[in-house]
Amino acid sequence: MSNADIIDGKAFAEGLRGRVAELAASFEQAAGRKAGLAVVLVGEDPASEIYVRNKGKQTIACGMESMEHRLPADTPETDLLALVEQLNSDPAVDGILVQLPLPDHMDEQKVIATINPDKDVDGFHVISAGRLAVGQKGFVACTPLGCLMLLKDRLGDLSGLDAVVIGRSNIVGKPMAQLLLRENCTVTIAHSRTKDLPEVVRRADIVVAAVGRAEMVKGDWVKPGATVIDVGMNRLPPTEDKPKGKLVGDVDFAEVSQVAGAVTPVPGGVGPMTIAVLLRNTIVAAHRNAGLELAEDAI
Ligand code: NAP
Repeated sequence: MSNADIIDGKAFAEGLRGRVAELAASFEQAAGRKAGLAVVLVGEDPASEIYVRNKGKQTIACGMESMEHRLPADTPETDLLALVEQLNSDPAVDGILVQLPLPDHMDEQKVIATINPDKDVDGFHVISAGRLAVGQKGFVACTPLGCLMLLKDRLGDLSGLDAVVIGRSNIVGKPMAQLLLRENCTVTIAHSRTKDLPEVVRRADIVVAAVGRAEMVKGDWVKPGATVIDVGMNRLPPTEDKPKGKLVGDVDFAEVSQVAGAVTPVPGGVGPMTIAVLLRNTIVAAHRNAGLELAEDAI
């Protein structure tokens, strides 16, 4: 039996997709075209294939256009850059996503830097990161923005709360910390060199774990009543009943759910939010690119 409330990311993501679909319908009426998301996949990485397929399906289900571009793994980098430039200047394309990782002969930073920041719905461009840091309008990476949505839905105003983000990657930890700072939290960023991590985590009203280490955050690390967001997606070694290995987060769910006030499960917590936020960013991009008003709190 767990004491904590289980935060249902799947249900929240479904609601978010519903709001995106409404906005996509009104956008189509106003703009005379569907909002469009272009996804570029280079090579045949099976996990990336699944992500791209899911993104395409959900884009269409929300009433937007999905443009998929598949390139062979040995595509020269210049060809990929030329495709991105072409998508930048295509008025039917509101958002551009280049699925990572790219093959080794390509420079991911260079490719991302070629995307027009106004179409950077993944929020990975340095201009997007800079806009977030200085408080300008821009696109925020989907996973951390999804975490923030779950936190605000649960806690309302986050002002003055102590937040600890474990992990400082450019795609999760750093933007997560910036978002929490924007919400007036007192933010600590922990990482592999942090001293006495359990003690640091115990101070927090909000814990976001984005590490990539199975079940690292233990029950006695968590302040009673804290809200814990588990970004991690790790596979345990295969067993007879789980031949692919059980999917677990960075949080020891069995222990933490005895102590926390609320916790996201894995799967079914943060995971479903990522694509839903991508669609949210795309419909926001479509409105901005078409010069159509979209209220700050519309979505
Ligand atoms: P990453 O780039 O590998 O970054 C991991 C971070 O964790 C680094 O900052 C690292 O510190 C820190 N770290 C590693 N070991 C640590 C330790 N023992 N104690 C404290 N900090 C430690 O990973 P990421 O891309 O941010 O992803 C993190 C996790 O989230 C992964 O499990 C990934 O699969 C998952 N993820 C899920 C989604 C989703 O949609 N749900 C999306 C993205 C990522 P240093 O900087 O000091 O090395």
